[in-house]
Amino acid sequence: MPAAVEFRAVSRHFGPASAPVKAVDAVDLTIAEGAFFAMLGPSGSGKTTCLRLISGFESPTAGEIRIFGQDVSATPPHLRNVNTVFQDYALFPHMNVRDNVAYGLMVKGMPRAKRYAKAEEMLALVHLDAYGSRKPGQLSGGQRQRVALARALVNEPRVLLLDEPLGALDLKLREAMQDELKSLQKRLGITFVFVTHDQHEALSMADSLAVFNQGKIAQIGTPAEIYTQPKTRFVADFVGSSNLLPPTLTQSLGGPAKWASLRPETLRLDANGPIAGPVTAIRYLGAGHRISLNAHGHDIAAILPAGSALPEPGTEIRLGFAPEALHIMDEA
Ligand code: ATP
Repeated sequence: MPAAVEFRAVSRHFGPASAPVKAVDAVDLTIAEGAFFAMLGPSGSGKTTCLRLISGFESPTAGEIRIFGQDVSATPPHLRNVNTVFQDYALFPHMNVRDNVAYGLMVKGMPRAKRYAKAEEMLALVHLDAYGSRKPGQLSGGQRQRVALARALVNEPRVLLLDEPLGALDLKLREAMQDELKSLQKRLGITFVFVTHDQHEALSMADSLAVFNQGKIAQIGTPAEIYTQPKTRFVADFVGSSNLLPPTLTQSLGGPAKWASLRPETLRLDANGPIAGPVTAIRYLGAGHRISLNAHGHDIAAILPAGSALPEPGTEIRLGFAPEALHIMDEA
């Protein structure tokens, strides 16, 4: 079975060849059919450009893109069987919700009764059946987001591209929509490619994710692989918070002379622990406390669960961890 999307050494450079902006730089990528795939990375790392390369709104300067096994270099966007949900939703303000959703079908020449029936079906899918006659301006942010989703899904794409689709929503609504999107994707079985710079969103929603840095993929894997086995300091630091230990410190903790990552939640108070130093700060997190200490000249953070006995700031403490918590990276 061919992959839904495949990049082979794909680049997209902008500007003069003498000093190009390498928005996407020799990226290899395989997205399986039916996956919920997230592209995660800081601003400017190339995520949106990758999405535009898949949709066909952007063309590669080098390399090859395949969609379900077919080279799409000569295929225009509307023939790719791919639809995009944009961050600003791009709804037509003067059209009501039903017409917005039916728009793609109208362009394809589907008769009015049939396209309205389809639009109603999609609105029911996103729980907006009662809102067909409203204008986008009469909806909440979350409702507009769902209209945008229905408008993309009505075209029955095999791949749905979502560019920061929840970016404009407040936290509560964002979490509700995350659950909704995830269950919708499972029900429909469509491949979702989701761009976000929110690591929590990527970790909790994706089956598989790519972490971008400066136009390249720093790491690709399942959320658990990316979180527990980051390959580089960049990944360890960008995905979750981590204590990044330089080779000398790793060695003093019994590891090899390499950079290592130690997640704050894997540390615990331990009178015989190998990390010792004075407490420099204690911060309340709600679900626990974040303790900072200065160990051998390095700042180390530990997250202690709620109910733990807390040390006083300034006192010397020791921290321990299970051997497998010390993750050695391939950077000397
Ligand atoms: P964000 O999270 O901020 O949307 P991103 O990871 O999606 O960022 P891209 O939008 O893909 O990043 O941009 C990657 C780089 O390419 C940036 O440095 C950007 O300025 C540059 N870039 C993107 N489009 C163009 C263009 N049309 N012309 C010149 N440079 C561009």
